[in-house]
Parts: sequence; C-alpha cells; structure tokens
Amino acid sequence: MPSVIRRVSDIRTLVADWRGARRVVGFVPTMGALHEGHISLVRHALEVCDKVVVSVFVNPLQFDRKDDFESYPSTEEEDVRLLMDLGVHGIYLPRHRDLFSAGFSTRVSQTSLTDQLCGASRPGHFEGVLTIVCKLFNIVMPDRAFFGRKDLQQGRIIQKMTRDLNFPIEIVLLPTVRESDGLALSSRNRLLTPAHREAAVGISAAIGLAQAAVADAPQDASDLASETADYLACLDGAEVDYCQICEPDGLEPREGQVLSGDVIAVAVFFGAVRLIDNADLLGSS
Ligand code: AMP
Repeated sequence: MPSVIRRVSDIRTLVADWRGARRVVGFVPTMGALHEGHISLVRHALEVCDKVVVSVFVNPLQFDRKDDFESYPSTEEEDVRLLMDLGVHGIYLPRHRDLFSAGFSTRVSQTSLTDQLCGASRPGHFEGVLTIVCKLFNIVMPDRAFFGRKDLQQGRIIQKMTRDLNFPIEIVLLPTVRESDGLALSSRNRLLTPAHREAAVGISAAIGLAQAAVADAPQDASDLASETADYLACLDGAEVDYCQICEPDGLEPREGQVLSGDVIAVAVFFGAVRLIDNADLLGSS
C-alpha cells in the first residue's frame, strides 16, 4: 500500500530511504481533480522509475483570480483512491501551513519566458508556479519530474529553472491527452456548461486547421494566427485570450513565415473558464 503523507519530514524520510537503496525516484506534481492526462504522466513515471511520488496541492500562489482559485475542483478522496489503484509509492498531500509558514515572503521568478502567452494574461502566475515547484523539488528531491505538454510554457519555464538553479532533476515533458473529440483534458473542463463543452471542441479543430494549412503551403505566422483567432472567436460563447505562433524553445512570437516545428498556442475563455491548448506545426517539406 502506498503511504499518504502530509508532513514534510515524512516525505523526506521516505524518499531518503529509497535514495539510500539506490532507487530512481520519480515525481508528478498535480493540483488534483485527476484525469487521464495526469494518469498518463503517472503511468509513464511508473514505467521509468523505481518509486513514484504524486503530490496533490492546489497552489494558491499561481492563481491571479480569487474566483478561479475558489472554484478550482477538488476531488481528494477519489484522487487518493485512483493513485492507490495505479500503484504509486507515495501520495503527498502537503499541508498548507507546512508550505506557507507565517510571514512567508520568498518568490522564485524568471526574467525570460514568463512575459508572453499565459504570463502576459495571468500576472504573477508563473512566479507562483516556479515558487511551488521549487519548494516541492526541495522537499521531495526526486531524480525525475514529469509534466504535461499541454502546459508547454510551464514546462519550458520549469526546465529553465531546473537548469538555472542546478537542480539535479531530469524534467520530462509528455504529450497532451485528449478527449475522443479532440478537447485537451483539463481539470477545468468539468466546470464548463454543456453548451460551452460542445463549443470547446472547436479549440482543437482550430489548431487542426492551422496544422493542415502549414502542411499544405507556406504561411505567414501573424496572418495564420489571426485567421485562427477569428475562427476561435466564432465559437459559441468563446472569448479569445490569445492565439499565437511561436518558436518552439523560447516561445517567442514567430515573425514572417511559419517554420516547421513552430508551435501554435491558444487560450480561450468560455464564461469564467479559461482553457489552453497548443500543438506543433509541421511543414510539408
Ligand atoms: P495540473 O493538475 O493542472 O496542475 O496538472 C498537473 C500536470 O498534469 C501538469 O504537468 C500538466 O501539464 C499535466 N496535464 C494536465 N492536463 C494534461 C493533459 N491533457 N495531457 C497531459 N498532461 C496534462
């Protein structure tokens, strides 16, 4: 049976024992309300590591809107049961007071990669992500940590933090898992109204159209981004936050012609629910 752990000292002891026995320790941080996207990360971690810890913690630092934090779904009991069934070795449910002692005032920030895309529309979001991931890395001290490609900018930012701060941790980014109709799985999908859920399938359809256009003929990046944004804006109830074509590493906006391997990244509101998605654009040559 895996341990359900709440104390920092307990998770440190557990992982120290594993490391002493030369086990490779994998770590999957999540905010819970687990779905097949999270499960794919856990399954992969179990395949390539000897021991796997999954954390479930809704990080208050990364929410730029109070209502978004308060409405974020929480299904702790189901999550724990699911993680037990999957066979993880440690389920870490941090206590708020252990992570944020009185007077907590330290932040981890980055001077590149955080101003564009989600960073532009959610001030402070990535600082909140980096701060909590840095804390969790220091607590769990895994050999490898697994993140989803659905949050590509987050993944790139964490890869950079890991390099910049010399964490001896390999960051693994894994593919986006989708519903059968193409919608990227997200804990927020369960907050969509039925009408918005139906319309939201248009996000992956729009991305598919952009991919097809690039595969078919050379495209100007800003023209293609605005055509895709126009398509998204026509979805019932949608408000486009951003739609951009970016170079794949630094995620800077591509200027001029789209190059093979560039990424299309979108964020769309349906009511108060903000959905993001992204995919590679591969040219025909
Ligand atoms: P979250 O609980 O939303 O913070 O996500 C925890 C981890 O699961 C992050 O690394 C996400 O990128 C990843 N994730 C979320 N949705 C998906 C998905 N549809 N496919 C793959 N990974 C995902």
